[in-house]
Amino acid sequence: MRKIQSILFLKCPRCREGSLLVGHPYQVRNLNKVNESCSVCQLNFKIETGFFYGSMYVSYGLGVALSITVYIFLSLLGMVDKPLNIFFIICGTLIALMPYINALSKVIWAGLFLKYDPNSLKKNL
Ligand SMILES: [Zn+2]
Repeated sequence: MRKIQSILFLKCPRCREGSLLVGHPYQVRNLNKVNESCSVCQLNFKIETGFFYGSMYVSYGLGVALSITVYIFLSLLGMVDKPLNIFFIICGTLIALMPYINALSKVIWAGLFLKYDPNSLKKNL
């Protein structure tokens, strides 16, 4: 699996096969829960206490990037005449995508510290 694919599908940064999250990002019961370890390569995701708090920085960046993207999209459609409408459309988009953005930011954050190892799959066979 390619890197961008593994990030978008919320996979383990080391083997790119196992799931980082306990459930689907929109599954309310398991919202924001990260697995203890990878089900495929047994990598421990709990590196240290509060490790995933750092993903808030990534989440903020993704939120800003998404807001700018929505604004550009609206301006291309010629819908930027009313600032309040723009505000509500951007807020609505951010709220609707919040669970996925949170999950995505955790995968990106973990990927900054845990490197891809193609041999990690072979070790456990
Ligand atoms: Zn893994």
